[in-house]
Amino acid sequence: MVKENCGVVGIFSLDGVNVIPMIIDSLRALQHRGQEAWGVAVPKKQPYKQLGLVSSAVSEFDKVTREYASPAAIGHVRYSTMGGSNLENAQPLKVKDLCIAHNGTISNVEELSGMVGGCTFTPQNVSDTLIVAKRLVSLMSENGKLGNALSILKNEMVGSFCFTFVSDDNAVYAARDPKGFRPMVVGFRKDTNTYIVASESAALAAVGAQLIRDVKPGELIKISNAGLESEMFSEEKKPAHCSFEFTYFAHPSSVMEGSNIYMVRKKIGQYLARKFPIRDADIVIPVPDSARPAALGYAQELGIPFEEGLLKDRYSRKGPLRSFIEPHQSDRVEINRWIIPITQVISGKHVVVVDDSLVRGTSSKAIIKALRRAGAKKISMVITFPPIKFPCYAGIDFPSQEELVTFFDNSDGYSEDAMIEKVRQVIGADFLGYNDAKNLADAIGIDADSMCFTCSSGDYSPLGIKPVFKSRAEIKGE
Ligand code: SF4
Repeated sequence: MVKENCGVVGIFSLDGVNVIPMIIDSLRALQHRGQEAWGVAVPKKQPYKQLGLVSSAVSEFDKVTREYASPAAIGHVRYSTMGGSNLENAQPLKVKDLCIAHNGTISNVEELSGMVGGCTFTPQNVSDTLIVAKRLVSLMSENGKLGNALSILKNEMVGSFCFTFVSDDNAVYAARDPKGFRPMVVGFRKDTNTYIVASESAALAAVGAQLIRDVKPGELIKISNAGLESEMFSEEKKPAHCSFEFTYFAHPSSVMEGSNIYMVRKKIGQYLARKFPIRDADIVIPVPDSARPAALGYAQELGIPFEEGLLKDRYSRKGPLRSFIEPHQSDRVEINRWIIPITQVISGKHVVVVDDSLVRGTSSKAIIKALRRAGAKKISMVITFPPIKFPCYAGIDFPSQEELVTFFDNSDGYSEDAMIEKVRQVIGADFLGYNDAKNLADAIGIDADSMCFTCSSGDYSPLGIKPVFKSRAEIKGE
């Protein structure tokens, strides 16, 4: 299995304006979806790619804007979980006259590689997106249009995808998988007559475009001089939107499936407070940054003071980055080491700490230790997402079951309560409370049946697979 959990964008200006500055700004707005590499592609050129953050290549912007000037372009920020974080694996990728950028997971890439001549897949040397792109191009040569090719590929491919494409005949395309696992929106900027498709509406706002709507699950959008055209390559009825996007992954300013993420997170905090009303707490604090709105919602619901008890050191090497999407454990530890408690806020208090997830337990353990050192009297931790017990095969990096904090020898023998008690002991909190799928879905305002909770429930039916779980070493090909 290979995963590409990233941000994608595609922009087309009907007025012929050079859209590269807009691509760069929109990628900066999607940086939270991938901080390892980024790239831009335009028709009739090899893609431009760079390692690191978009902002760290600021000296290159003028050159890229000049040399890649085009009214049609796509872009990508990468968060890899497979293969090296090298330039070769960065995106977009080009196959014949099509450049492709991908957000999602292809979980049967070995099988697909068998359908693609001259492409032997090994985890370290070939990108899953390259294999999909090759397969797509070969299906297009047999079946004509991209929509026809996607309607075949969706049956061959297991996983999730949001693609943007730019073709040598000056068209930008965007496609969202039939279940709508990963988010995708389309917007318009009036003054330059420009359409933009992107993983999140934060990218639209960054370039002054207005959100039109979500791209529908199973929809292919084409933007060219003829304007915006849409077709359905799949008519699946039931979506499986990733619930983790709502609690952690997406930017708080984004609007997803009609709801603003910040407002949703605040509501998740309110609903969590009704499930775990810890009324004898002195203060409620968030784990920075993504749990902040939920902590505020929790505090307001119970009328307990909200405080900033933990601050991220923005000046350390990895301080500003998101620890969860860092590929190396040492870097995740480095980031968490620089979350600093404010003793004057914490000392002598019963503290409710709100976090958005408990994955490996690395951060929680470090944070609880730091709070104890700062003199907390009691630490209750509440988590806005249900217990993560199974790997994600639809675009988020929970790579091996054995790395999850919920995994113990003979895990199957534990009741849910016993498992939570074990996790509480591991992280060192006085109380640990997890959200549940129904409570979370109610707060988000989407029917639980239309959302994915596989990493918590172990029900892989939205993907139609029964996976055999591998160790991280096996997944990485180490
Ligand atoms: S398994 Fe979890 S992280 Fe993956 S798509 Fe489903 S809800 Fe999201």
